Amino acid sequence: MFDHTICAISTALKEGAISIVRLSGEDAIPIVNQIFTKDLSHVPSHTIHYGHILDDHKEPVDEVLVSVFRAPKTYTREDIVEINCHGGIFITRKILSIVLSHGAKLAKPGEFTQRAFYHGRIDLSQAEAVEDMIEATNDSAAKMAIRGIRGSVHQLLQPLIENLLDIIAQIEVNIDYPEYEDIEQLTQQDLLPKVKEWLDRIDAILKKANTGQLIKNGIDTVIIGRPNVGKSSLLNALLEEDKAIVTDIAGTTRDIVEGQIHIGSVQLNLIDTAGIRHASDKIEQIGIEKSQEKLQQAKLVLLVLDGSHPLTKEDEDLLEKTKDKLRLIIWNKQDLSDTSQEGICISAKNHQIQPLIDALESLYQNDLLNEEPVLSNERQIGLLQQARSAMTRAQLALEDHTEPDLVEIDIQEAYEDLKEILGEVHREDLLDTLFSKFCLGK
Ligand code: GDP
Ligand code: ZN
Repeated sequence: MFDHTICAISTALKEGAISIVRLSGEDAIPIVNQIFTKDLSHVPSHTIHYGHILDDHKEPVDEVLVSVFRAPKTYTREDIVEINCHGGIFITRKILSIVLSHGAKLAKPGEFTQRAFYHGRIDLSQAEAVEDMIEATNDSAAKMAIRGIRGSVHQLLQPLIENLLDIIAQIEVNIDYPEYEDIEQLTQQDLLPKVKEWLDRIDAILKKANTGQLIKNGIDTVIIGRPNVGKSSLLNALLEEDKAIVTDIAGTTRDIVEGQIHIGSVQLNLIDTAGIRHASDKIEQIGIEKSQEKLQQAKLVLLVLDGSHPLTKEDEDLLEKTKDKLRLIIWNKQDLSDTSQEGICISAKNHQIQPLIDALESLYQNDLLNEEPVLSNERQIGLLQQARSAMTRAQLALEDHTEPDLVEIDIQEAYEDLKEILGEVHREDLLDTLFSKFCLGK
């Protein structure tokens, strides 16, 4: 399938101490051999060699270290050669062009990982985890990605896949050998609890997947409060920089200002909003609609109240509006208040927000990421939801006293959805596995 050798600059293309030009494929070693001062044809796998890369006139271009990895124990399961050169953009590109002129083809984005997948070294979920690792912006996301690379998704789904396979196999056997008395008949009453149990397990995974996505994408956190309570000041204090405009005039934060902070190992995507209230002017109205929308989508609400004043009707409305959301109630302007309040009391203007930071830290302390594998990828979660719908159809039909053979199609669909998560969806595969489990027909 992959008859040519690919190459690419595997490090970020910017000035740095070292850059890596990587080749993968049958000709990786012969190609580098033509342009390197040392003969690599018989060097053992996983060794590093010092020398020079030569241009077409046999002039040295750069002093390099060349790593040789022989198939199959490599990232792509093909021969891989990595040229560690000096990190200048010019020299790195020069070496890449020399490699290209000796017969390698430029790799498409993700092609090394794609080869790893097609050669069966990793499944699709692992390939996606490689991408997640590259994109990880925080510690938890990186940890989740490395688990994904090591096969956590496979580990999580495999028992569920096998479970479905057993059910399908049992139904098939009943269809093929209806009269065969040694074979246990699977009735609708037998099947229903199995389907329900399976759905419970899927629900547990989907619930955790939510957390996985939070870790990966950050927690959308909306800051709300009536005008002038100090939302923008709080955002600024949190960001420790002046991204939002702080002013005395009510209703000036019309646009939604965003910034990100890291609390412990999670990332909060902060959203300041225009005061959610009735507005006369048009622009302000748009801002308010946007903040309503943001409030709906937010995973966490920071509701700011003015601790130096009694609550107003508007404050009460906001307390009511957010009561079903995960929220922290924050009493701002503590510096103006002589009574001490219960709860999270801060002074945003003076950057005294430690009580809030503490509250956020304890909110997301341990409960986000424990040792269990989680799903975080949109495609994977989508397929899991699809599998769930198929099995729910099966459940409803069974509850309606449908015979097992008539719901097999739904169960098969769920099975294929899960296999697709791992990138292994082949009908033959299903049949092979079935066959290996039941060799009745011989
Ligand atoms: P927003 O409309 O809710 O975004 O409020 P702003 O952050 O724009 O603040 C409104 C006014 O309250 C500004 O004059 C701020 O300087 C002031 N303010 C904000 N936080 C505090 C605080 O903790 N203490 C005091 N004394 N004033 C504050
Ligand atoms: Zn504001």
